[in-house]
Amino acid sequence: MAEKLKILKFPDPRLRTVAEKVTKFDKSLEKLANDMLYTMYEDNGIGLAASQVDRHIRLIVMDLSEERNDPRVFINPEYKILDNESLASFEEGCLSIPGFSEEIIRPDKIELTWQDLEGKTHTDRPNGLLTICIQHEMDHLEGKLMVDYISPIKRDRIRKKLQK
Ligand SMILES: [Zn+2]
Repeated sequence: MAEKLKILKFPDPRLRTVAEKVTKFDKSLEKLANDMLYTMYEDNGIGLAASQVDRHIRLIVMDLSEERNDPRVFINPEYKILDNESLASFEEGCLSIPGFSEEIIRPDKIELTWQDLEGKTHTDRPNGLLTICIQHEMDHLEGKLMVDYISPIKRDRIRKKLQK
């Protein structure tokens, strides 16, 4: 049975922790991935990083399908930007910053490498939403949040709103 996990909310300082590499591909990793997917679906998110549930390892779950039937797990993801000139802007939201969305500009030509739950390595050149979403989630693993892309004044306004 999957368990709903508590999502840390901005400005919780634990969201600033840099995540560690996954080295053990065991049952507990699989359980965490399943619990994260369950939590993400319950909160109507499209992606969730382990950092957001206070587990500081390089694990991300995602489902970008409209039918919500395409769960994906990315372990130890890494990307390189293939074209610095090619950018996409997307209105992003974040389960750690509820009720807030912002247009963020990111590179949209990347090569992505990750491991699955068995530890097998995959490489892909994704396009569309996956490209944006994986960068957003990988920011979480570095302790970075989408509010870091906006002006300090706006960020402060959001912080005050969420602290109420
Ligand atoms: Zn987020």
